[in-house]
Amino acid sequence: MLEAYQIDQDEIAKDIDLMRANGYAVLREDPPDTPAIVCDGLDAACIQVRTVTIRPDVPAVGQTLSDLALDSTYGLIVEEVQRNGTTFKVNDSEVQLAVGDRVVLMGGAAQFASSADLFRTPAETQRHTEATAIAVPQQGEALIQPLCTHQHMIHITDVPQGGQVCEECVRLGDRWVHLRMCLTCGHIGCCDSSKNKHATKHYRTSDHPIVQSVEPGEDWRWCFVDEVLVPKKRQ
Ligand SMILES: [Zn+2]
Ligand SMILES: [Zn+2]
Ligand SMILES: [Zn+2]
Repeated sequence: MLEAYQIDQDEIAKDIDLMRANGYAVLREDPPDTPAIVCDGLDAACIQVRTVTIRPDVPAVGQTLSDLALDSTYGLIVEEVQRNGTTFKVNDSEVQLAVGDRVVLMGGAAQFASSADLFRTPAETQRHTEATAIAVPQQGEALIQPLCTHQHMIHITDVPQGGQVCEECVRLGDRWVHLRMCLTCGHIGCCDSSKNKHATKHYRTSDHPIVQSVEPGEDWRWCFVDEVLVPKKRQ
């Protein structure tokens, strides 16, 4: 499956190693009770988009998304929060997280690893720390975020907010969830939570590395190659 997305073999191995080292339930049952992070199938989308279920006693309970500052502290993008069939958009970031909420996050393996303690109970964090103390002595290395080296590929600076469509989905008669604009050529495609993942497909076929969200109120940039948030240059 991963090969079908033409992801570099080393990249796959690196991501899987990182997830394994951090005990993600996809690959290993650690902690043995309810897994902290559950992927909807291990594929290219799972490497980048993961859903965290908020469980009792984890530090994230009762915090708002702005309290957690997942983007500025950990380099993780919150796509949405799901509760009892209701979806909160990122703009509702003053909603306090409650047990049972599902938080859809986008980021690289290292970013997920660095934030994992927010979604573990104190006992699990303790167990995890003990389990990895010997095996991974330089655990801090996972916290160093790689940088994007593709910013010279950004040619579009005027990004619309809202009012756009995924033209490829329109032609197919399909719907989409969120839209991303390619900052190299201006292509607008749907996100990885959408059925057709046209933004990712555009990256695979064009090698244009960076997209920016065109959702109202969002201006984050994402590099597909480095799997990191791309900072906006200060004018
Ligand atoms: Zn990059
Ligand atoms: Zn689409
Ligand atoms: Zn493009």
